[in-house]
Amino acid sequence: MDNLHIEILRRLVSFNTVTPAGIDIMLYCKELLESWGFTVKIHQSENVPNLVAYIGNGVKTLCIAGHLDVVEPGNNWQYEPFTLIEMDGKLYGRGTNDMKGSLSSMLASIHDFIQQSSGLSIMILLTGDEEIMTNNGMHSLMNYVTHFHKSFDLCILPESCSPGEAGEYIKIGCKGSMNIDISSHAPQGHVANIPNNHLHRFIDTVHKLIGLHIDDGNDVFEPSKLQLTSIDVDNNTRNIVPSNIFAQFNVRFNNVRTSEQIKLMFEKLVPSGINSNIEVLSEPFIGCSVEWQAKLRCIVGNSLNKNVAVGTFGGNSDAKTLHKYMNVVEIGTPLAQAHITDEFILKSDIDKLRSLYYDLISGIASQNWS
Ligand SMILES: [Zn+2]
Repeated sequence: MDNLHIEILRRLVSFNTVTPAGIDIMLYCKELLESWGFTVKIHQSENVPNLVAYIGNGVKTLCIAGHLDVVEPGNNWQYEPFTLIEMDGKLYGRGTNDMKGSLSSMLASIHDFIQQSSGLSIMILLTGDEEIMTNNGMHSLMNYVTHFHKSFDLCILPESCSPGEAGEYIKIGCKGSMNIDISSHAPQGHVANIPNNHLHRFIDTVHKLIGLHIDDGNDVFEPSKLQLTSIDVDNNTRNIVPSNIFAQFNVRFNNVRTSEQIKLMFEKLVPSGINSNIEVLSEPFIGCSVEWQAKLRCIVGNSLNKNVAVGTFGGNSDAKTLHKYMNVVEIGTPLAQAHITDEFILKSDIDKLRSLYYDLISGIASQNWS
C-alpha cells in the first residue's frame, strides 16, 4: 500500500478548520480532485464553503460524503493539534478520528478505484459545518446539487461512528433528540417559616422523570433514555428557601413511540405548579433500505472476514440530511476517539479503512442496483 492516504491526511490536518471550515481546505480538495479528473464546484453558503465533485458517466452514482470542520482542540494538548504527528503507531491531530482520517482513506481508495473503468459514477460531497449543523452545510449543498443532479441511490459517510473497532459497524440511522426544561417559582422565605418547600416537590418530580421507563428499544434501536444535565437553584444561603428552581434534561429516543407520545408521558409526570417546556430537536430515522443493509453487510463482512453489526449507535451527522435524498450508511472510526484531547487514529486503522473502502466501492459497483 502506498502512502497516499497518509499524505492527504497530513494536508487536511494542517488546515485549522475549527467549525466552520475555511475556504483554503476546500481549495486544496478541489485541486486534488481535479488532478484526478473530477469536475469540482465549490458552493459557498453564507460563511460556510462546501464542495461537490463528480466523475464518470455511469447510470449508477455512488455518493461519498464527509465534513472537513472539526471541534475546538482546547488547551491541554501534548501535541500541536494542526500538525500530523506519528508516534508509536498513532497519528495525532485534531480531526484525525472525526473525520479527516477516514475521509483520507476513502479519497485514496476512490483514487485507486477510478484507475479502472466501471459503470459507477462517483459524487463527493464535502461540508464545512457539520459540527454545528446550521442550514449552510449539507442542507444547502443538497439544495444546490439537486438543481443539476436528480437521481440519488446510495451514500457512504466515512464518519466516526463505530462502538467498537474501526470499520466493523454499519450505522443505518440515528435516535431522535428532545430537550426538557422544568422550573418552579415561589416567594423566597426563611427556612423556619416555610409550610411547603417547593424545592422538595421539584426534586420529587425530577426523580419521577429520571425513573420513567420509556421503552425497551427494538432490533435496531437501543431503549430511549433521559439524562439530567443541569439543576440550578441559584442559592448559597443556608437559611432561605430559594425562589427560582430550574432543571434541564435531554432525551435520546427511538422509533418505538412517536415524539408526541413521549412528550405526553413526560408531561403527565409534571404536577401543576411546576412549569415544563419540551422541544423536539430531531426525530429518529432509519436511513437505509433492508436490501442495501444486507448487501453492504455482506460486502463489508467479506472484506474484513467477519460479521459486522448494523445499528443506530451514536449521535447525529450529515446523514440526518442525506437520508431524505437516498440510502445512507456510516462506516468509520471508533466514536470513543472523537473530540478528545490528543485525538488520534491508529496507523493500522487508517490502512484497514483504505482497503475496506476500496472493497466497498468495488463491491457496490458490481451490485445489481434495480
Ligand atoms: Zn464527524
